[in-house]
Amino acid sequence: MFDQPIQTSNLPAVTFVGAGPGSADHLTLGAYRALQTADVVIYDRLVGQEILDLIPAHVRRIDVGKEGFGPSTEQSQINALLVQHGLSGDRVLRLKGGDCNIFGRLDEEIEAIEAVGLPFRVLPGLTAATVAAAAIGQSLTRRGRNASLRIVTGHDMAGFAEQDWRGLARKGEVAAIYMGKKSARFIQGRLMMHGADAATPVTVVENVSRPDQRFFGVTLSTLTDAVSLCSGPAVILFGLAPRQAALTLSELKEAQA
Ligand code: SAH
Repeated sequence: MFDQPIQTSNLPAVTFVGAGPGSADHLTLGAYRALQTADVVIYDRLVGQEILDLIPAHVRRIDVGKEGFGPSTEQSQINALLVQHGLSGDRVLRLKGGDCNIFGRLDEEIEAIEAVGLPFRVLPGLTAATVAAAAIGQSLTRRGRNASLRIVTGHDMAGFAEQDWRGLARKGEVAAIYMGKKSARFIQGRLMMHGADAATPVTVVENVSRPDQRFFGVTLSTLTDAVSLCSGPAVILFGLAPRQAALTLSELKEAQA
């Protein structure tokens, strides 16, 4: 199956691709194939270097990196780029970190493509939370512990994002919190206010699937300390402790000093 020639005919104008959180090991074969047949790759800040290295040299690259609170390419500009290249007949590959279906502004971009009548397809990727859970040897759902998993964001367009804190504060709940670094104190406060146990395990996993990946196994009460040690992207696994040996926070601070 792997040695079949790559089909380049009948490809849609725009292929939205989830690159996974960093390592080439977490890229799907479909995504890899799409990279080989693209004319232009328009990519985000969170796409790992290992993935960018897989883009053939002749393929044009456009960096539209967007930072949570920092400088960014306007979404409308990104939409315009996709439309412009799609209409020009280029095979456009829109590359996003993790899974493009999760906190990836995918609908906005698809709607821009649809508005001009261009065909598209979506190749999903591995999201940061699943790879982070694997890194700490835990699963995101467990019989008898949690029958649902929440994927929440720490902030939205209006600022810190409100969630169903009361539901999340119940014993055994598990949530993967994205974009939660700046809002960690807010999240901690809201959860405690709604009765969450201060000793609830929380693991912060930074730079998931990258050479500098590390995780901090802490509790809800020390969440903000762990987050303050992270300079890279981090996903917060609320309700999960690392199964593998984790450093204590003081060990971590020592290691950083
Ligand atoms: N589509 C991405 C999420 C984009 S939102 C996905 O499915 O993973 C951006 C947030 O995702 C970051 O603030 C962080 O919380 C998380 N994230 C993305 N890549 C990450 C990585 N390599 N390591 C840790 N967190 C990551």
